[in-house]
Amino acid sequence: MSEKTIFKRIIDHEIPADIVYEDDQCLAFKDIAPKAPTHVLIIPKKEIATVDDLADEDAALIGHMWIVIRNLARDLGLEEGYRVIVNCKEAGGQEVPHLHYHLLGGRKMTWPPG
Ligand code: 5GP
Repeated sequence: MSEKTIFKRIIDHEIPADIVYEDDQCLAFKDIAPKAPTHVLIIPKKEIATVDDLADEDAALIGHMWIVIRNLARDLGLEEGYRVIVNCKEAGGQEVPHLHYHLLGGRKMTWPPG
């Protein structure tokens, strides 16, 4: 069996994280190396490595996660705007092979991202 990812270990409460939201389907916690004043990661509890590994049956889970992101942005005071990023695989800049959304806010974002 392959080794657990760092995010799976956070889901299983084996390693600490600054958790800001949790329900039966997903978990949100502060990024350990924030790239903005607010930088939260939203992850599914289901082990999905990348966007490329999504199954058609994951559609409801992904829809749910977007509602969680919207609510978190409101709760975290990001009414002026924010950015949601998903890196996919190595060339997309993904380092942890467990699907995650980056919610970034609290500063003006630039475009295009690097
Ligand atoms: P990726 O590059 O895969 O899209 O993003 C992975 C993110 O996970 C990075 O922003 C990195 O700072 C964050 N990260 C990596 N390890 C940990 C950890 O152990 N705890 C937390 N809270 N964030 C982590």
